[in-house]
Amino acid sequence: MLVCDRRAQGARLRQYVGIILIVLALSIGIRIAVVMRLTRMVTDPLAYLAGVAREISERRDYSVRAERETGGEIGQLIDAFNEMVAQIDRHDRARQAAEDGLRRSEERYALAARGSNDGLWDYDATAGRVYLSPRLNAILGEREAEQWVSILDLFGRIHPEDRDRVRVEFAAYSQSNAEAFDVEFRMRHHNEGWVWMQGRSTVVRGEGGRVVRMAGSLSDITRRKTTDAVTGLPNRLFFLDELGRALENTGSGQVAVLFLDLDRFRMVNDSLGHSATDELLIQVTGRLRSAVRSAGRKVVVARTGEDEFAMLLTELQRPADAESVAGMMLAWLREPFYLEGQHLPVGASIGIAFGSASDKPEELLRNAETAMYHASTKGNAEIAIFRASMRERAAARLEIVMGLRSAIKANQLRLRYQPLVSLRERRIIGFESLVRWQHPERGLLRPGEFIAIAEESDLILELGEWVLREACRQMAEWDQRLAPDPPLTIGVNVAARRLRLEITERSLLADTGQILATLRALRRMGVWLVIDDFGTGYSSLSYLQRLPFDALKIDRSFISELGAGDGSPEIVRTIIELARSFKLRVVAEGVETADQVNRLSALGCDLIQGFYFGKPVTAEQTEALIRDGYAIQPAFPGGNATDYFEAGADDIGTTAARLELGE
Ligand code: C2E
Ligand code: MG
Ligand code: MG
Repeated sequence: MLVCDRRAQGARLRQYVGIILIVLALSIGIRIAVVMRLTRMVTDPLAYLAGVAREISERRDYSVRAERETGGEIGQLIDAFNEMVAQIDRHDRARQAAEDGLRRSEERYALAARGSNDGLWDYDATAGRVYLSPRLNAILGEREAEQWVSILDLFGRIHPEDRDRVRVEFAAYSQSNAEAFDVEFRMRHHNEGWVWMQGRSTVVRGEGGRVVRMAGSLSDITRRKTTDAVTGLPNRLFFLDELGRALENTGSGQVAVLFLDLDRFRMVNDSLGHSATDELLIQVTGRLRSAVRSAGRKVVVARTGEDEFAMLLTELQRPADAESVAGMMLAWLREPFYLEGQHLPVGASIGIAFGSASDKPEELLRNAETAMYHASTKGNAEIAIFRASMRERAAARLEIVMGLRSAIKANQLRLRYQPLVSLRERRIIGFESLVRWQHPERGLLRPGEFIAIAEESDLILELGEWVLREACRQMAEWDQRLAPDPPLTIGVNVAARRLRLEITERSLLADTGQILATLRALRRMGVWLVIDDFGTGYSSLSYLQRLPFDALKIDRSFISELGAGDGSPEIVRTIIELARSFKLRVVAEGVETADQVNRLSALGCDLIQGFYFGKPVTAEQTEALIRDGYAIQPAFPGGNATDYFEAGADDIGTTAARLELGE
């Protein structure tokens, strides 16, 4: 039994072991299958992702995405992978766009730099060096395509006259917070002369606002800077440069500078306006060019001021050559200009200055201008050659202009009154007011020292207004206080030359109607119009015909000849007859002797003014004369003078004022 049990136990044991082994084998097999399956589920997608990643990186194509076939963690991993690639894709596109933009803008910049006229520079403040672009080098006439120079070197190329200004502005700019810098200056051209530059720049600042880098452009503005926009001629800047070069190269020879000033420019401007003025300048330029051509030599013509032109003559054989060119210029300008449907005469004056290597351009031009002033005071269409004595006169003239301007405000002007006597009435019938300047240093100045100078500018208008006001005020005051009987007349000298020009010129400009209306209105107010200094001008007859004058004053020079021994009274007689035929009164001025008074009265001249009856005196002295009942001093000469009085001329006692117009 026992044997039987053992056998049975052994068999069962084997059975168990077998079952255990089978279970073990099954579980291992299953586990292996599960593990293998699990492994494939993880590694395959990873391998797949790795493949996709490799593909993306090889093709640089970030639009590729991994496909998601499963859910769970692997699915999440693929989603995350795809999201990551999408982000890279977006970044890449953005970077690409930025790069494209940058490249395009760089290309644009390079194209612009190559195509534009601007030279470019870039200053590295730390190294103290400046990069100059090919275009900038070309502007400066350098052969190198591009170069690096030191900042000192660059400043060294700036014109000595501009250098300090640029340096100061540059320093001010680097210390300021200003965004941009804009300055104009000249730089030396490699071969010759100077190039006008306009510099613009911006700055890069480092710590504490320190400039670390500056870059900008330099444009060649030589043409704009040196050309006159209206006439297209070179301007003053160009002329001075050219003159400077001519003086440097002249060796032992001479150069001549001609300075031309148009005579009636301001009047054309005032009466016809700017566009007519421009047109006039263009026509003048054309004629000057013709004159140069007919002179057959090289002449640089420039417009140096409003109505001023300068000419440069080099290789002069003889100084007389310059004069003959000047004469030719004036001849070309002599014919009237045709402007706005009218023929307009415009004269000119020319000053000439000769210079040699040691002269400065500005000074030479100024000398020519000084000579021109001298020429213009001599009369129309004159030429004068500079002499050193003219400079003193020019300085004195400048002093007068400056002083006179303040003199009017500082109440330094005075009026003197000179009696006007009627021979027929044997009494004073009025006074001529004559201006004086009580100069703080030089004492009492006569009009001869300042009127002509004032007439060259608008100063004469201010002065004229003061005189007119003061004479009227004085007259009204005497009228009220002294009630003179018969009423008083006071003559006022009206801006002699200026008014004359205005009347003749304006009437030329077909506005005679307006002028006539004004003059007639003045007359109705009781204002007398007198032509002063008659016989010294040149177009007196045409005035007499055109304008409603009341009287003419025979110039002192004819009167002084009257008494001089055998001085012929013919001119005076002719003027008196002329006046009579125009129904004008005649005044003789500058009468100094009894003999002259007698001769004048014999010739039929009634109204006398001169030292013989009284010098110009102060207001107080004049008041005494009025209180005296206008008695004539000295004692009235008798004899033949009285014979004429009976012939009688009409009464001017009611006249309120007289305007004396210089011839
Ligand atoms: P005018 O209008 O012909 O004035 C006459 C000038 O001759 C005055 O000189 C007068 O003092 C001077 N005179 C008068 N009688 C005699 C004489 O018998 N002998 C001599 N030798 N001279 C005599 P004045 O005051 O120096 O004025 C000179 C000129 O200055 C004036 O000449 C006039 O053209 C101008 N003038 C004077 N005052 C004014 C003014 O208020 N405005 C303007 N625009 N010009 C003025
Ligand atoms: Mg006068
Ligand atoms: Mg006079």
